[in-house]
Amino acid sequence: AAKSDSSSSYRLYDADIKDSRAERRALEGALKIALENKELELFYQPILDLATNQLWGCEALARWKHPTKGMISPLQFIPTAEESGLIGPMGDWILEEACSTAMTWPQPFKVAINLSPVQFRSRDVLASVKTALEISGLPAQRLVLEITESVKLTDEATATLKRLKALGVSIALDDFGTGYASMSYLSSFPFDKIKIDQSFVRGMMDSPDSRAIIKATIGLAKDLKMSTTAEGVETEEQLNALHLAGASQAQGYLIAKPMPREAIAAFITNLQGTQPNKRDEQAP
Ligand code: C2E
Ligand code: MG
Ligand code: MG
Ligand code: MG
Repeated sequence: AAKSDSSSSYRLYDADIKDSRAERRALEGALKIALENKELELFYQPILDLATNQLWGCEALARWKHPTKGMISPLQFIPTAEESGLIGPMGDWILEEACSTAMTWPQPFKVAINLSPVQFRSRDVLASVKTALEISGLPAQRLVLEITESVKLTDEATATLKRLKALGVSIALDDFGTGYASMSYLSSFPFDKIKIDQSFVRGMMDSPDSRAIIKATIGLAKDLKMSTTAEGVETEEQLNALHLAGASQAQGYLIAKPMPREAIAAFITNLQGTQPNKRDEQAP
């Protein structure tokens, strides 16, 4: 009995592996078709400048509108894209699409784009970024590239980041505080901006520890001449506390959820119609 148990569990295990391999291959195939059929879409989430209370710009966030499964999260398909090499052409498309969209916004608004570590390693990122800027006509000063600590800062990677900065592009460190070597990472490259991970913001009203980490991060960023964006801001309370703590920008559902290109255009038009003038008129 023991033998048949173990052999049946072996078979089960084997079947699971085959399944997950088959599933992964199926997902890769579907993703390739999705790219060809333009099922990928970029959403844009507004980022608020806390010093001026004006829009700073937007972060581009990828979405897969699957014909039958509905909207699929980037957390699900970016890893598959990375494993299959599709992240190369996909990343190029994302860069071009986001830069072209940003060109339709008023001049001062910037666009932030996430770069995958695989994309960073395996592609000529510099050439891809240059091409996207050329095709779209977007000034490099309006583009911010976000990387995470999963990009290993080898000499080669650091040289690429320096060349990107030389183009006029800014570099942000995303999800700060969630990696293993945040401090050494910060000292290895002069980032323009630190994005404080939403896990700290989520806990900040209840947890003195989260507040301490946020405060310290903002102080550190200031000393290093970097700006800070707090991610995942969902309440007025958090927004006020972050403003008081000296964060440069805030991003989160409180301000707006990520939305399609057309919706963000309407959002911007709306803001311009109301925000500055209305405030001036109401000022005592
Ligand atoms: P991220 O770059 O840290 O993006 C922020 C994530 O937080 C987004 O999730 C956004 O929708 C979500 N978020 C924003 N505000 C709030 C809030 O107030 N509350 C909560 N609970 N969540 C909020 P999303 O769009 O699912 O993206 C997840 C991650 O996938 C991103 O994290 C980024 O690492 C990656 N990603 C997204 N788009 C791309 C892309 O075009 N290329 C690459 N390489 N990665 C991408
Ligand atoms: Mg990001
Ligand atoms: Mg983040
Ligand atoms: Mg993230």
